[in-house]
Amino acid sequence: MLLDTFERKHDYLRISLIDNCNFRCTYCMPNEEISFLPHAQLMQVDEIVEIAKSFVSLGVTKIRLTGGEPLVRKEFAQICEKLSSLPVELTLTTNGVLVHKHIETFRTAGIRSINVSIDTLQKEKFLQISKRDAFDQVWKNILSLVEHQFSVKLNVVVMKGINDDEVIDFVRLSEQLPIHIRFIEFMPFDKNAWHKDKVIRSNDLIEQLEQHFSFIKLKDEKHATAKKYKLLQGLGSFAFITTMSQIFCSECNRMRLTADGKMKNCLFGKDELDLLQAYRKGEDITDIIKQSVLAKHEKMGGQFKEISTETDASMIINRSMIKIGG
Ligand code: SAM
Ligand code: SF4
Repeated sequence: MLLDTFERKHDYLRISLIDNCNFRCTYCMPNEEISFLPHAQLMQVDEIVEIAKSFVSLGVTKIRLTGGEPLVRKEFAQICEKLSSLPVELTLTTNGVLVHKHIETFRTAGIRSINVSIDTLQKEKFLQISKRDAFDQVWKNILSLVEHQFSVKLNVVVMKGINDDEVIDFVRLSEQLPIHIRFIEFMPFDKNAWHKDKVIRSNDLIEQLEQHFSFIKLKDEKHATAKKYKLLQGLGSFAFITTMSQIFCSECNRMRLTADGKMKNCLFGKDELDLLQAYRKGEDITDIIKQSVLAKHEKMGGQFKEISTETDASMIINRSMIKIGG
């Protein structure tokens, strides 16, 4: 079992399959030419599987595939198929645009729950945020996932002056469709044009929603980062991920593996241990994994006691979100 020095049990691993993406979301990618890893520097298919096995041998029960955009990885189907033989719940976070090509892969790999990121329900604004004219395809794919009876969560990064006027429309969706909306507070990462004035606290959104809807609080799952609610007549639910206004580090059970095989014990931490190089040298990586978990800071990767809208984002040493794997 992977216990850190604060008695937190770590059983959830997020694996980034690639640092590249077919979108250019303003809040995720630096607004400049960025270079992506050459294929040889990525974890190769069997390396992903063997490294994942080491985590499973240490008690991991849930693996989320992410990126960059995981569906851009050309061996995605092969990776899924191989990971599906492990005794874990396998899940995925995607921008949704290539989902129609992979429904069968998801099914055969036993993936039941999929998070799709979509920050607006307006075609023009979608182009503005993601720099890709892909709203129609993404929306079609979301509906197709619902039809195929996947559990669908929509990740919405809420940014003041950009999409905060759509929160009500998103909540209405959860009335009509069995989908789960997750409003995420905008977080600062390397060169992502974060500014405190663009952050909206979840409590402010809840107050705004109270004026339009009647809703109830749902019980939150253990380790869940999202605080869940449901409209009285809703088929789905909505939730808030309050990273900026109310941190949830005390319940953290997560570890991350970047596409180039570096282990991060915290989204906000700057420390990384190179599992891929160790694996390629034939070393026992389970010791390195344990070492990383034991070095985990109590909160916010040890960089801050709290993160808030008053945090000086320029002081945070970290990769950009696309290079971490969200
Ligand atoms: N490409 C996939 C996608 O967009 O879902 C997976 C990778 S993306 C980095 C994972 C999640 O991180 C997405 O839901 C995205 O909205 C979120 N994210 C990226 N940058 C963020 C930021 N600055 N603040 C909050 N969430 C962010
Ligand atoms: Fe790509 Fe996802 Fe980042 Fe958007 S949020 S740029 S889709 S990795």
